Amino acid sequence: MVLPANVGDDPRYTDRLVPMTCPEDIPLEWRNSPIEALIRSENMGQPIAETVGQPQLLIATCIEFRYALPIPRMYAYVIRRASGRLVGSEFSMAYILAKGVQHLALIGHNDCGMTKVAENRVPMIAALIAQGWAPDRAEDFINAQAARHSMADELDGLKREYIRLRRIFKKLVIAPLFVDLADTRLFVPRWYADLDPTQQDDAEFSVSDIDLITDIVL
Ligand SMILES: [Zn+2]
Repeated sequence: MVLPANVGDDPRYTDRLVPMTCPEDIPLEWRNSPIEALIRSENMGQPIAETVGQPQLLIATCIEFRYALPIPRMYAYVIRRASGRLVGSEFSMAYILAKGVQHLALIGHNDCGMTKVAENRVPMIAALIAQGWAPDRAEDFINAQAARHSMADELDGLKREYIRLRRIFKKLVIAPLFVDLADTRLFVPRWYADLDPTQQDDAEFSVSDIDLITDIVL
């Protein structure tokens, strides 16, 4: 099966996602923003109008080939990385912020390959060796990166990245979203809906400094 079951039919996600079927379901802090436009496009059949000149949004999501973004040209910057984590993309982020973007849609998804890194580790090493990498270098590289990129649970991984990004980019409006690969509907993670907007930097959501380290090599 190429596409997974709907998230509503999968016990791993049931009750952990809040649907958005009408504009009133969209969290207040995202209303009248490019994030609302994205949600309306995916969930309410209202395509995003093409804009000219001013990028509106940054969308960060997984490399996942089963998800195509519903955006016209001239609308959004897009960073796609394994699991949607932006570690190592800070230079790109600086450029995008310099262009005036103030909103980030951080989109996780079900059935993510980054929950299956362990079973893919050996073929990934073999793929690099086939590209001419020395076997020990390929193995060291994949082993070192696997821990950083793998996650046990997509919704927990999304939360972790949301909190990390809030610490690094304090003025950016960040919307953690979760897309159902089966029909591309967007959901709000339950953990976000349950947050008190005034208490989002609570110690409960703190991230250790080690998790803020990027891939920068000086
Ligand atoms: Zn993924």
